[in-house]
Amino acid sequence: MTSQQETPDSTPSADSLPAAADRARHADLVDLIQKYRAAYYNDDAPIVSDAEFDLLYSELETLEALHPELVTGDSPTQNVGGEVSVAFAAVDHLARMYSLEDVFSLEELEAWLTKAAASVAHRGGKAPRWLSELKIDGLAVNLLYRNGVLVRAATRGDGTTGEDITHNVATIKDIPQKLHGTNFPSEVEIRGEVFIASKDFTALNEKMVAAGKAPFSNPRNSAAGSLRQKDPAETAKRPLSMYVHGIGAREGLTTATQSETYELLKSWGMPISPYYKVVDTLPEVMDFISHYGEHRHDLIHEIDGIVVKVDDLATQRELGHTSRVPRWSVAYKYPPEEVHTKLLDIRVNVGRTGRVTPYGVMEPVKVAGSVVEMATLHNQDVVKAKGVLIGDIVVLRKAGDVIPEIVGPVMALRDAQDPPVREFVMPTHCPSCGTALAPAKEGDIDIRCLNARSCPAQLTERVAHLAGRGGFDIEALGYEAAAALTTGPGPDPAGNGGIIAPAGPGPLVSEAQVFSIAELDLSGVVVWREIRSKGEGTGRFAQVPYFYTKATAKKPSVPTKTTEKLYEELEKAKKAPLWRVLVALSIRHVGPTASRALATRYGSMAAIRAALAAPDAAEQLANVGGVGGIIAEALIEWFAVDWHKDIVDAWAAAGVLMADAVDESVPKTLEGLTIVVTGTLPNLSRDEAKEAIIIRGGKAAGSVSKNTSYVVAGEAAGTKLDKAEALGIPVLDEDAFRELLASGPAAFEQ
Ligand code: NAD
Repeated sequence: MTSQQETPDSTPSADSLPAAADRARHADLVDLIQKYRAAYYNDDAPIVSDAEFDLLYSELETLEALHPELVTGDSPTQNVGGEVSVAFAAVDHLARMYSLEDVFSLEELEAWLTKAAASVAHRGGKAPRWLSELKIDGLAVNLLYRNGVLVRAATRGDGTTGEDITHNVATIKDIPQKLHGTNFPSEVEIRGEVFIASKDFTALNEKMVAAGKAPFSNPRNSAAGSLRQKDPAETAKRPLSMYVHGIGAREGLTTATQSETYELLKSWGMPISPYYKVVDTLPEVMDFISHYGEHRHDLIHEIDGIVVKVDDLATQRELGHTSRVPRWSVAYKYPPEEVHTKLLDIRVNVGRTGRVTPYGVMEPVKVAGSVVEMATLHNQDVVKAKGVLIGDIVVLRKAGDVIPEIVGPVMALRDAQDPPVREFVMPTHCPSCGTALAPAKEGDIDIRCLNARSCPAQLTERVAHLAGRGGFDIEALGYEAAAALTTGPGPDPAGNGGIIAPAGPGPLVSEAQVFSIAELDLSGVVVWREIRSKGEGTGRFAQVPYFYTKATAKKPSVPTKTTEKLYEELEKAKKAPLWRVLVALSIRHVGPTASRALATRYGSMAAIRAALAAPDAAEQLANVGGVGGIIAEALIEWFAVDWHKDIVDAWAAAGVLMADAVDESVPKTLEGLTIVVTGTLPNLSRDEAKEAIIIRGGKAAGSVSKNTSYVVAGEAAGTKLDKAEALGIPVLDEDAFRELLASGPAAFEQ
């Protein structure tokens, strides 16, 4: 967005006349919008995000609504954006092509639809039926069929004149060269949106970068860029599709509604979106919007909103259009999922298994409802494939709840960056412990810090993992506490060049010490906290003790409440079932499912170690249901390392149980049964339910198959319940499950 540095207007002016500041802002906005439109429509390479563009555009509309005298024929509000590039021949459309009026909230949409319905009523028309359809994020084409033969295809251009792209369109398989049947008029213009399916977009961008070309910033631009190739052979290589969304000139077409026309066009072989719906009421329009708001990523193509049209063609003609948009149609835009921001740096993170992962640090920006400032870049090959350099303006995408992703750079802005952009260089040594980085195996893309034992960063991750919900479930040992214990406080979060604390090691140098943490001196463990003033953050940080209170003249330093809670939780964790101990050990591939299987089969750590010592250990372990060959290998590898065995011994010495009590009093009612638990049960957690199954001799499986005996379903049970129903597997609620636990299948026998 531009900064507006106008001087205060000192000239007295009549109230009705716009102030000089407004004139200047108007001129700025017109210039900017024209510049952005040119980059978007002519170069298929936008400089700003759609959200930013839409904001500028609304500002222009508001300014012009306040001062109508600022409106000239050249204003972007008066014409359809886009012009005809010299690379293509100019062709006139038989009937004009329009843009759409946008609304950005449901309130605005409701107001728009109510006003349109009132206008229809005022003209004596019936209450309109609303054709709701997806606003496909692609580019519009106008196809001219004469006597059923495609004779010309053009882009929208400025709405009157478009670019002749007939040869390129001829390569799109969805678009028939000849209409089917015979009942078509002698001349008809069919309009639709050309797009690239979301899955093809990523692959296309990778190819572009590999060929040394700039990647497209989103599927819309990739569709536009692909369709506007000078060489149709190049367009033919791109996976383009189309859905029809309108008609222009029509000679003798007798349909009464737009939806009826779609069905007719479908019978001619034209691609019609399967998702349109005609409804009678506003709540139904709102339902359509909320449905696709939730499911927009389940579609094959991108959408940026919903288009609502008056279905009746005679009413459409009655309502007419402005110089830019029809008065019978409106586009509701979903909140943006794509924004532009600056990539300030690419740093690396060292994970639990030593994997070193680059991630982008960006200027914080709001996207799809949350502020994002970091996004993973997976590995150095991904950084290369995306073509991003440090300092670039990048396209950042966050689709709903999905993890934010850096899509690629905005190439047009690269040269203007200050300081200049620079390439990311993958470090050769671990940023946490300085060990040389290397792939674990030859040919691995990922590189790792192989100092698993004492690299503070890896230790932090392992401690946080062992205390996590799937492990010992120690709430007081969250990530912050784990990091403070193992690496020290790290650099000043304000990054102001103040105190830079050395990263690690902290008092905890091995997870073997976790259960004897009370013996360590925790009084010096500090974390950074923002200094607050009158309840407000100041942006400055200070180090404060984490496990102990601050000593004052009157009170000595004592353990904080968190620390007391930590000690209590550690005591409780010592009695954790064996499967939790196994999860907590951070053995590769050994998660809750494999751990439960091992615990059920062997019952104690001693029995597992005995099995590992057997000559046929790999085979024995691999044959345990839920374990398999890869996990068996991982177990053997892990237990062969001395310091790993020391962890188990230290925990055992500190009092961790290491064996499940065999409760012979529990009848083995579920022997031979495989049961899947899904959703939230009213009184039992999923873990409790699984344990109840296992101790009664049953198998607690994670997925539904024809071998599943029962599915226990609570609230918000998803696809597993659907699958159970499809396979005819009995589904139990919590009460029925309790009966099953008590009496086995006999509970349901008459
Ligand atoms: P628009 O994209 O908001 O709406 C009109 C277009 O929607 C039609 O021409 C048609 O191509 C398309 N469309 C998709 N599905 C449709 C359907 N079911 N029925 C009817 N039309 C459908 O308008 P516009 O004038 O093409 O472009 C304006 C928008 O483009 C802006 O709001 C902005 O999001 C984007 N833009 C961005 C930049 C930028 O720099 N980022 C610049 C210019 C425009």
